[in-house]
Parts: sequence; structure tokens; C-alpha cells
Amino acid sequence: MPRLHDILALENLPDRWLSGDDKCDCTYQRIGSWHNPYIGTTLQVRLCCLWAEIYKEYPEFVQEIPAFWDGNHVAPITAPQPWDSEDMDMPLPIWYRQLAREQGRTVADIRAEYSQKQYLRPRKVSPGSGRDSRQPSQREVRLAQLDELEKTGWRREDRIALWEKEDALKRERERHDRAKSR
Ligand SMILES: [Zn+2]
Repeated sequence: MPRLHDILALENLPDRWLSGDDKCDCTYQRIGSWHNPYIGTTLQVRLCCLWAEIYKEYPEFVQEIPAFWDGNHVAPITAPQPWDSEDMDMPLPIWYRQLAREQGRTVADIRAEYSQKQYLRPRKVSPGSGRDSRQPSQREVRLAQLDELEKTGWRREDRIALWEKEDALKRERERHDRAKSR
């Protein structure tokens, strides 16, 4: 039987923040969370909102770039891409922010309108047509990375040599594991 003060405490707990809960208009929502069962408390910090205040003080340390690099392509993609997950419908916070960018409106404005029009939310795509079925090969990924690595001081031939060494090690390990399991 729970004690009375436990019941009262439960009733007074605030709604716990979650990453992607859309409770602020930040483009990327981030929640810091620290908790410990033996202390019985949780510290939550809405980092995205806190950082937004810090960004105002130090604009010289902030880059807001209207483009996306997916790590597999050297060329930046400047248009928001259509939803292409085979596993889930588009999450509401991402949908609202995509619409805001496409229409040049605020997230709050879009949320107010489109929370009433959820039938328009992009659904998951049919199996075999989503992003997972178009993964680039390891070779394509590495070629794309070479240009960026060069800017951080890597020589192309050194990086390629390192990849070859890593591949050889991996093959060696796989041979070893196969021999062991026989
Ligand atoms: Zn925020």
C-alpha cells in the first residue's frame, strides 16, 4: 500500500521532457537527463533552449547552414528530402520543421495549423523503396569521405593505405573466427 506522501508526490510530478517531444520550437531538440535510483531524483535540462540563449551571446561560434551533408555525398543537399522510412511514419516534430522550412514560416505557426491536418502527415513508404534499400556501397562512402579528410590534413594515399590495412585485419579476424567455429 503506497504511503500518502508518495501518492501526493506522484500527483505533483511534472511531465518529463523527452527528446523530440516538440515542447519547444528549437530545430533540434536535445534534453539532458541525469537520474539515480538511490537518490530517487531526476535532473532534466532543456539543452536546446539553453544553448539557443548562449548562441545569441556568441554568434561567431554558430553556423546555421541551409544545406545537409549525409556523409555519403560530397555535394550538399539544399532542399528538404521527402520522407523515405520503411519503418515509421514521419515524426510530427520533424514534419512541422520540414513544413516550416519549405513554407518560410515559424514552427509555432505550422504546428497550430497542421496539428489539425494530421491526415497529411507523410506515411512510411512501401518495403524496398525506402532509404535502407538505397544504401551506398562502402567504396562510394569512402570516396566521398576522402575530400573531407584531405581538408583535415590526411593525404589521400595515407588514408587509403589505412583502410586497406583495416580491411586486411578484418578479413584475418573473420578467417580466425571461422576456423574456431569449425
Ligand atoms: Zn528547445
